[in-house]
Amino acid sequence: MDSGTQTLARYKMFIGGQWVDSASGQTFESENPFSSETWALIPRGNAEDVDRACKAAHKALTTGDWPKLTATQRGALLRKLGDILATKAKALAEIEVRDNGKLIAEMAAQCAYVPQWYYYFGGLCDKIEGAVIPIDKPQTFNYTRHEPVGVVACIVPWNSPLLLATWKLAPALAAGNTVVIKPSEFTSASTLEFMKAFEEAGFPPGVVNVVTGFGADVASLATHPLVAKVAFTGSDATGARIYSDAAKSLKRVSLELGGKSPNIVFDDANIENAVKGVISGIFAATGQTCIAGSRLLVQRSIHDQFVEKLVALGKTARMGDPMSYDTQVGPVTTRPQYQKVLDYIDIAKKEGCVTVLGGGKATRPECGKGWFVEPTVFTGVRNAMRIAQEEVFGPVLSVIPFADEEEAIAIGNDVVYGLAAGVWTQDMRRSLLMAEKLQAGTVWINTYRAVSYLSPFGGYKRSGIGRESGQEMIKEYMQTKSVWISTATEVPNPFVLR
Ligand code: NAD
Repeated sequence: MDSGTQTLARYKMFIGGQWVDSASGQTFESENPFSSETWALIPRGNAEDVDRACKAAHKALTTGDWPKLTATQRGALLRKLGDILATKAKALAEIEVRDNGKLIAEMAAQCAYVPQWYYYFGGLCDKIEGAVIPIDKPQTFNYTRHEPVGVVACIVPWNSPLLLATWKLAPALAAGNTVVIKPSEFTSASTLEFMKAFEEAGFPPGVVNVVTGFGADVASLATHPLVAKVAFTGSDATGARIYSDAAKSLKRVSLELGGKSPNIVFDDANIENAVKGVISGIFAATGQTCIAGSRLLVQRSIHDQFVEKLVALGKTARMGDPMSYDTQVGPVTTRPQYQKVLDYIDIAKKEGCVTVLGGGKATRPECGKGWFVEPTVFTGVRNAMRIAQEEVFGPVLSVIPFADEEEAIAIGNDVVYGLAAGVWTQDMRRSLLMAEKLQAGTVWINTYRAVSYLSPFGGYKRSGIGRESGQEMIKEYMQTKSVWISTATEVPNPFVLR
């Protein structure tokens, strides 16, 4: 990044180990959601830049130092990267806040956690073992090798740019692949800054590349002949498009998509904890998380009491400058998303929902010119309503009553998504039943929003394909080769399949 002639930061793309402008020379503006002002200029990539990056990644995959590294050396490099990132965590968090408006308290913790993925997958590099198979044919030796798939395109959204890129990058690199990252056009700066850590760690040129720009301009990333796998996180609409584009050349695809997760509170729950868990599930990160607990299913017998406590705590949320550690709810990250959240609030009102908290733009003085929406809670919601079925991706909670376990399961599962679910109960039998019956890739009991490099994450149904984090998923970035060696002195009948 250079400081521009005005006060704008000017970034370059990172391709083949070089900092470069876009092939067209064009740039686009990145805005700060709190000040609503442009703060950076980002290169506007197109198909030519995609081609340059894919060629650089392919060259690094097939020639140079990267394929020569042993798995142990690759692991050491990833762990070195983790150490460097740990020293840069605060600076990276500040860029994220400026670019996407998430709270410094959350981003500082998130950026400090990111190195763990590089330590973990760095450690895993040399523990991916093939097998010697006791094959059923005489004088024959058979074994397997797990090899990288090739060039991986990592396409990520704006809500947690570095964490979500890392969930793909760490295993992809640990498996020996090379990568082209495409960050969101709304939050590209932190990913470009992130590349300095790769340079400092000494990754060979082309192992990691970044192409910035708008989705439509760089759509060739999902179809480029040198790309072997597309690892995508984003909306289900874009995910479906990329899945279909990538299918034309039969690429591997993993998709981490949206959600409409139920947070289910039973009458035997620790109510104070459940209230905090529900608030955290929907208002943390201004509701802009794929795992947002955007449907509160509350047992009818405690509905009124629970909503009262929820609203009382929700009212205390401090809004304002995301760079302040005291702020609890920040702005919405993008202008279009701000409008989308406000539109959904109108839709809910027109559907006949009752606004018991918030319900529109936040006009508090501490919100300045930022894109703020009041933390909003609707009661009187039926699960068939749009507000209960569609992903808002904002601080908007729909409260839906239920009678018993059976109804909670039925309503909880009655959406196209299946990313996550929360359950609040002190009954062990009920916990296990809910964990079994809820159709979601993650179920939290008496907690919410916990993720780790150690545990698989991904969606059921329309929330995605594949998993991220955890030991097993590294295989999603590898392909298995079966090697046959004959120890016979003579080839038997050549006309018969052995
Ligand atoms: P989006 O789908 O609009 O964009 C995601 C990325 O895809 C962006 O980088 C965008 O530029 C790129 N893109 C768009 N069209 C493309 C194309 N044709 N070819 C290549 N790239 C293209 O999503 P968003 O608005 O940035 O993010 C919000 C969405 O992400 C929400 O739906 C949310 O639930 C989802 N999300 C999912 C997870 C998860 O792990 N399941 C995590 C975070 C966010």
